[in-house]
Amino acid sequence: QIFWICIKKTIEAELAVPVITGKKSEKDKFVGAVYTNTLESLMPDGKALQMGTSHFLGQNFSKPFDVKYLGENNVETFAWQTSWGVSWRLIGGMIMTHGDDRGLVLPPKIAPIQVVIIPIYYSKEEKEKVMEYALKARDELVGENVRVHLDDREHLTPGFKFNDWEMKGIPVRIEIGPKDIAKNQIVLARRHNQTKNNLEMMKTSLSVILEHVSDGIVTNKLPNYVKEELENIQKEMFDAAKKILDERIVRVSEYQQFKEQLDNGKMIDCSWCGNQTCEDKIKEETGADLRVIPSGNAKAETCIYCKNSGTTNALFAKGY
Ligand SMILES: [Zn+2]
Repeated sequence: QIFWICIKKTIEAELAVPVITGKKSEKDKFVGAVYTNTLESLMPDGKALQMGTSHFLGQNFSKPFDVKYLGENNVETFAWQTSWGVSWRLIGGMIMTHGDDRGLVLPPKIAPIQVVIIPIYYSKEEKEKVMEYALKARDELVGENVRVHLDDREHLTPGFKFNDWEMKGIPVRIEIGPKDIAKNQIVLARRHNQTKNNLEMMKTSLSVILEHVSDGIVTNKLPNYVKEELENIQKEMFDAAKKILDERIVRVSEYQQFKEQLDNGKMIDCSWCGNQTCEDKIKEETGADLRVIPSGNAKAETCIYCKNSGTTNALFAKGY
């Protein structure tokens, strides 16, 4: 159980993909398991994606395979077993959750490159100035363990480089051009929300001027500023995905609403009597699967299908 919580935390904190945890129904549990835990996420097209499962096998496998351990009092006991699975589909789920029409959008925590620096110059003189500044910025960021790349490819235009790194989903782009240097500024662009702004810089050091106050200025060193920015981006990406997930889950009590909301790409929260017959009928008539019986379940009403008293709440959606 603890390990399971760790997986949920990892998916949410690192991949910035919100998940719903709970159990699979008897029909969908791992064959032979006592029960199956699942982590479900909802993709932008309204289909659910199972992000990982774990199975409690009890002694169902240790008995036929004769797996024993020596317990207290030297008594041989059949082993209690679990089975875990998370795989590449996590990466697929992350890509689908955050990606947009321009390409990949990577959460900073897992981005192999977190910041790309694009020097902008059109002459040899400009190049010298800009590269000196860009190299200094890169070195300071490297010194503070920011994963940074300076794109100094000669044969490509800045515009091409912008698009190239946008497609690859790099969270932050820093643009440095001769006009910026003349104005003591650099440009910082964020991939996830396509915003960018000018950072006013100190003349003498790579520090960002945050504000001008009556008796001077408030500054932050560039690496610190960038690190805070990366943390904000990570949080904003998760919050945005969580908001979409929460808005997509709709509570219904009538089967007609169930069908309508499913067609709207929603994940349906409803009560269910626990019988596989109802689960099968719903699947047959709507295409929706019982994805997860959420943990921390509220009190159930009557079954969405047969109207008998519900034993549990369950989330239904179409899957891949
Ligand atoms: Zn029912």
